[in-house]
Amino acid sequence: MYVHDIRSPHKMDGAATNTASVIPEVVLSSSSTRKAMPVIGFGTAADSNDSATLISAVLEAIKLGYRHFDTASLYGSEQALGEAIAQALSVGLVTSRDDLFITSKLWCNDAHSHLVLPALQKSLRSLQLEYIDLYLIHWPISSTPEKGRWPIDEQDLMPMDFKSVWAAMEECQRLGLAKSIGVSNFSCKELQNLLSSATIPPSVNQVEMSPVWQQKKLREFCKANGIVVTAFSPLGAKGCSWGTHQVMENEVLQEIAKARGKTVAQVCLRWIYEQGEILVVKSYNKERMKENLQIFDWELSEDDHNKISQIKQHRMMRKEELVSARGPYKSVVEFGMESF
Ligand code: NAP
Repeated sequence: MYVHDIRSPHKMDGAATNTASVIPEVVLSSSSTRKAMPVIGFGTAADSNDSATLISAVLEAIKLGYRHFDTASLYGSEQALGEAIAQALSVGLVTSRDDLFITSKLWCNDAHSHLVLPALQKSLRSLQLEYIDLYLIHWPISSTPEKGRWPIDEQDLMPMDFKSVWAAMEECQRLGLAKSIGVSNFSCKELQNLLSSATIPPSVNQVEMSPVWQQKKLREFCKANGIVVTAFSPLGAKGCSWGTHQVMENEVLQEIAKARGKTVAQVCLRWIYEQGEILVVKSYNKERMKENLQIFDWELSEDDHNKISQIKQHRMMRKEELVSARGPYKSVVEFGMESF
């Protein structure tokens, strides 16, 4: 039912933690390396990201077996993630930087051709890294360069010049500063636009995806074009200011979880994995971090899949703040409301 282009499972003996896990990996088609991307990433977007909490969460995550970390210049988590990586290397939790897969993202006010490389260089300094594994355009929209990051004032929203911004992203890959490049929150239409001038096609499109927002049409398009989908907010970001309870409190998912002796979170993550996609999930709680990794030694049944496919669809992240009568996207529908 599910097919991954798995090069080799990423074996973690978890000796320090008793958590034996095997995290499969996916090779990205347009990457400049053959290094693969672990199918589970550790998210670092939080309403308050204090350094001490984040550093200890990342160190714990590494001990448990996470090797793929997702950050963005917007999240304010790059510095602490970088510090945690430096500590993990110095105490030998990982033997080499190459053992980790790090993703970061270009924010809207840097989404101008001349600002892309400086923005990546700034992220690299914050992360204390010489390269990142994946650099994504965070949203398909630009904003006035010198203005604040979030929220973006209506008058600062600008259409993105996909051609020149993507060419600058390609330069980042050519320089070896980003091993792969991709996008986030792009619709089929925006991907099509980007692909029409791209020399290096995007490796990844990171989008909201869960059993409650399944993204079938977008996933078909991505698959046909060799683009790997990474699911963000796979649990509906429950408890976060941008989140919803509709995923974790969904009755169908609760019933399946009960019948299988799993948690709703595990059912959500396993479902994404069985769709053949990658996911990033955030927890700074050791038990939940562990729980989220325990999805590789069991399967959902065909009946479970049928039930999940009938769940009423609801998009959580509508980003109405980026939609304006004066901006490049006049309505939420125009702003990439891909349907299921
Ligand atoms: P999420 O991973 O769906 O949910 C995170 C929330 O769920 C946290 O409140 C966490 O709390 C809780 N949680 C985690 N595991 C749990 C479990 N097993 N049982 C119960 N609750 C659990 O949402 P997200 O953080 O929005 O998405 C994941 C990552 O995707 C982000 O951190 C970020 O890196 C990325 N992201 C990208 C974009 C984009 O535009 N590209 C947008 C949003 C997110 P605890 O920490 O207390 O466990």
